[in-house]
Parts: sequence; C-alpha cells; structure tokens
Amino acid sequence: MLQKCEGIVIRTNDYGETNKIVTLFTREWGKIGVMARGANKPNSRLAAVTLPFTHGFFLVQMGRGLGNLQQGEILSSYKSIKEDIFLTAYASYVAELTDKSTEERKANPFLFELLLQTLAYMNDGLDPEVLVLIYEMKMLNVLGLYPILDRCSICGSTEGSFAFSIREGGLLCHRCFNKDPYHLKTTQATLKLLRLFYMIDISRLGNISVKLETKEELKKVINAYYEEYSGLYLKTKRFLNQLDSLKDKL
Ligand SMILES: [Zn+2]
Repeated sequence: MLQKCEGIVIRTNDYGETNKIVTLFTREWGKIGVMARGANKPNSRLAAVTLPFTHGFFLVQMGRGLGNLQQGEILSSYKSIKEDIFLTAYASYVAELTDKSTEERKANPFLFELLLQTLAYMNDGLDPEVLVLIYEMKMLNVLGLYPILDRCSICGSTEGSFAFSIREGGLLCHRCFNKDPYHLKTTQATLKLLRLFYMIDISRLGNISVKLETKEELKKVINAYYEEYSGLYLKTKRFLNQLDSLKDKL
C-alpha cells in the first residue's frame, strides 16, 4: 500500500553500494525506517530528499518490516545547517536524541512539531546552544522523566532560595539543602529558565538570549540529570561536549 507522510530525516545508513536505509520521524506515524533504493547514486531522484535533516513529503510503499521509499518532495533542506559544521553537530545531536528516545511507529505529532521548529530556528540563526537546552528539557517527558521544577522536591515548599538536586530529581529549597549534600548550586535565573524551557511552547519562542554563565549552569544541571536518569549515551553528545571544551581553550 502506497502512503504519503510528512517527515524529517533523522538518520541514514548506507546499505550495499547504492542503497540507504533512512530513518524518518514523521508527523503521522512517529519514527519509521524506509529503504531508499539507489539513493547513493549521484543522479538518483532520492539522493537529495534523503540527506540528513531534510524535511519533506515522502511516498512510502508500506509492508511488513521496512517500507520502500518511492518518491520524496523537499519542503526544506536546511541549507545553513548543512553548510556549517557546528550547526551540523547541534542538529545531529537533536536528531540522534530523537532517534534514541522514541520507538518505531508511535505517533507523537507534538514531538514532530518540536523537532521541525528546532531545526528551522537553528537554520535561521537562533542560538543553537539554547535550542538544544530547550529540546533536552522538552524531551524529558518523552523519556518518561518528570523533574520537579515548581517546588522543593523534598518538603514541597515554594518559598525560599533553591538549588537543584539530581538525586531528588528536582528543586531543593534552602531548608532542605543538607538533605542532599551534593545539590548543585544554581542561580535563581538558571532555575527560572529551566522551568521556562520545560513549559515553553516553542512556536512562540522569540529572539531569546541567555548569558554565558547561565548557559553553563543550565548545561551542568541538564547534563547531570540526563546522565543520571536518561540511560542514553550518545556519540553526538560526546562530540558536542568536546566542541565545548575546545571553545573554552580558545
Ligand atoms: Zn525543602
């Protein structure tokens, strides 16, 4: 049965000399794998539409197992991302995080929209680091994680000054600091952004600018939380961390 879907290429693997197995994240069915026969031939009509991050309509012959990609129509190819190695690194992480956090054929139109917007913003020049932080916060629910960001995770208080406790999975008020001696000291600005990123409707994101120190704190909290709870070890994330430490040395 031939079916049309709207999707984004989140992974490609060469298969034989000329074929590619393409992982799409689609609006209709969530993640699916399709075989793109001949896509690695330079003059193939599937070559351009199966490049990483491409957003388009895809005509798929569905069967048991892998579908067969018959045809594609590019809606956006995100040229600025592909031409910039740093942006490519950020987008690759977003794509891998999506791939590794989702199951096949489990529709999530909300996540599709989030991925689409994130790539579009990145392509338009919004701060890719901030976009990645937002994406990571919004992926938590997809991963089945629900950090407590609106009150102390131990006593429930909403008053006072707060830090972040990885062990408790959320905020810690100053009265409870001693209950987790390893709590991460964070400015209130960082905690406010953490909550904002978690709740935000990304389609309403304006031109957001975040101070360098705040970004560093956000990264520290989010990375530690992911390490503790997500169970993910992503190559593309390691590469981003390496880029970060390289930047510090410059
Ligand atoms: Zn407390």
